[in-house]
Amino acid sequence: MHADTLITGATIITMDSSRRVLTGGALAIAGDRIVAVGKAEEVARLVEAREVVDGRRFVMTPGFINGHVHVTETLFKGFMPENLGFDDAVWKWSVPLHEGQDAAEQGLGAKLAAVSMLRTGTTCFLEAGTVIAMEAVFRAVEETGIRARIGKWVLDRAFVPGQNQAALTDAALRELEAELAAYPGADGQRVAAWPLLIGHNTNTDALWIGAKALADSHKAGISAHMSPAPGDAAWYVAATGDRPAVHLARLGVLGSNVSLTHMVHVDDDEVAALAETGTHVIHCPVAAIKGAYGTSQVGRFPEMAAAGVNIWLGTDGADTADLMRPMTLMAGLFKDARRDGAVFPAHETLEMATVNAARAMGMRAEIGALAVGMRADLVLHDTDRPEWRPLLNAVSQLVWCASGAGVHSVWVDGRRVVDNYRCTTIDEEKLFAEVQAAAQAYVGRSGLPSITAWPVS
Ligand SMILES: [Zn+2]
Repeated sequence: MHADTLITGATIITMDSSRRVLTGGALAIAGDRIVAVGKAEEVARLVEAREVVDGRRFVMTPGFINGHVHVTETLFKGFMPENLGFDDAVWKWSVPLHEGQDAAEQGLGAKLAAVSMLRTGTTCFLEAGTVIAMEAVFRAVEETGIRARIGKWVLDRAFVPGQNQAALTDAALRELEAELAAYPGADGQRVAAWPLLIGHNTNTDALWIGAKALADSHKAGISAHMSPAPGDAAWYVAATGDRPAVHLARLGVLGSNVSLTHMVHVDDDEVAALAETGTHVIHCPVAAIKGAYGTSQVGRFPEMAAAGVNIWLGTDGADTADLMRPMTLMAGLFKDARRDGAVFPAHETLEMATVNAARAMGMRAEIGALAVGMRADLVLHDTDRPEWRPLLNAVSQLVWCASGAGVHSVWVDGRRVVDNYRCTTIDEEKLFAEVQAAAQAYVGRSGLPSITAWPVS
């Protein structure tokens, strides 16, 4: 059998249906697909490859899948103070900082976010639905070689007296239709639009129903923010009599192509509604602990998992694009909260970042595991580093010892997009210089203060 690339000698965490971990393993790529994976001597008998990569130094995993990331927040990474509280963080800082960007700035931030993800082993991400300049962001993301589903900033609730609710909802639905037409994804396109919603209380029932119908007819998915803080539940109970997940389930808009992000403040009925409808939940533990959501105190993620809710992970804001940090936190937060070391073991946390995520994205047969016929989205973790030695349990060490800083090489669709710690698809030095200049100019004109604990001169 002909192959373009054969990586041989690696420790391979396949995430296949039997969860095989192969020492001295090999994987062959032809075009954008995996054509062989197994013990090196077996694969060597099957495959004649144009290029052979010595994999003995590496642990290989599927590319990670980040379920929630605001790529256009990257230009204000580090700028927002950490003691704002949820409402001020969103309305006084995050929203004005998003809205103040021009298309070039949005594209630049998105490109840096995509590069940051690739360099730390993420090969696919679901954007959080807060893109303003779609075309600039789409082109920037596509250029990096990453796989993505992105969505425009769409909300419709008439909060200001005198606004025409029906007109706002119609306009929002037209926006969703337009982005799906402009950036289709049903035929396996690497980067495409999904009808993503902001969520919380910003979307009317009519928009939810319309967006769900669009997602169904375009073989797409929906995500929306919900219940990082108690406020969403209080609002829904006052407005509808039900908590958010119960209300959305009654509305008929939950289901296997819907992911709700955060879901920290939920009750038992909501957990049941999520499980019954097959709705996925994205937890962003870095954002949750920084935002003081109370996830370790009130989060019901162990109960969700026990009820059969599919949980996956996101990085959310710009603080980190390295999905291995949420993995570590997810493996630890609820062990500590419940004083039970059996909660969310490392291997289950790795499932959240790979196979669970692929299922939620409707790409279970394509990505999230290393098996014949699947897309060649994979990562080589460099074990010639102190955090990887001694190598005695690859899965445990991946989650507890390693980080994205040890990612040496990455392939997406069979294309090597990171090689020897460098992105091959763009000029990193040029990008970093452009980002630094643009970000300083941008936060300077935002009118918001630069707040530091200590004097900076
Ligand atoms: Zn978010």
